[in-house]
Amino acid sequence: MDMTRIRDHMVEHQLTRRGIDDRSVIEAMRTVPREKFVAPGFEDFAYEDAPLSIGDGQTISQPFIVALMLEKAGLKAGDKALEVGTGSGYASALMSRIVRQVYSIERHERLALQARDRFGTLGYHNIEVRVGDGSKGWPDAAPFDAIVVSAAAPEVPSALKEQLNLGGRLIIPVGRGQEQRLKRVTRTGPAAFEEDDLGGVVFVPLIGEDAWTAAHPMYT
Ligand code: SAM
Repeated sequence: MDMTRIRDHMVEHQLTRRGIDDRSVIEAMRTVPREKFVAPGFEDFAYEDAPLSIGDGQTISQPFIVALMLEKAGLKAGDKALEVGTGSGYASALMSRIVRQVYSIERHERLALQARDRFGTLGYHNIEVRVGDGSKGWPDAAPFDAIVVSAAAPEVPSALKEQLNLGGRLIIPVGRGQEQRLKRVTRTGPAAFEEDDLGGVVFVPLIGEDAWTAAHPMYT
């Protein structure tokens, strides 16, 4: 199978036609092999217009949603960025093709270790992976120019806002079940933040100290 052609088709039909036009995001989506980030046996579905299971009750997000989040994060070549919710590693891999350095944190050890292996195999050496609760951010690597949270929080965790650089952007789904909104929080001053609503989304819950508790009946 010609993966370059399949990726180009995905970019054209799922991204460009829906308004994604950030050149660095498009270029990253054209080059990162999504088929290497899906569960074994799912390679043929890697470029479907949908999220896919990656085990542990988690998913690799739909390509369009990943592209939208990265575009709205306004990633630039010299940036230092954080992803909360590494999952398969796909979004962090895309970010690593655009920015200088990516930090990526995941609460499931198996997923974090698997993602780290993938980055090594693919030669993506500017990504550091940690197992832990990303609702508290990654204080010793902060501040960040961009933070992308790939799981839905009850509200915007204050630690993540505090770990933004001046002008930094935080992209985060907020809310429960089918009522989540994707938000962008921009740090406009030492204690000043601007918030934009980017539309409705559906993500798995962000589980942690400054997020949902594991037992929270999120979908009720
Ligand atoms: N960005 C991922 C990708 O490209 O495959 C998809 C992420 S998946 C939708 C959300 C991930 O967030 C899951 O792997 C989940 O275990 C993780 N997660 C949930 N709460 C977390 C927390 N507090 N800290 C770190 N990771 C968390």
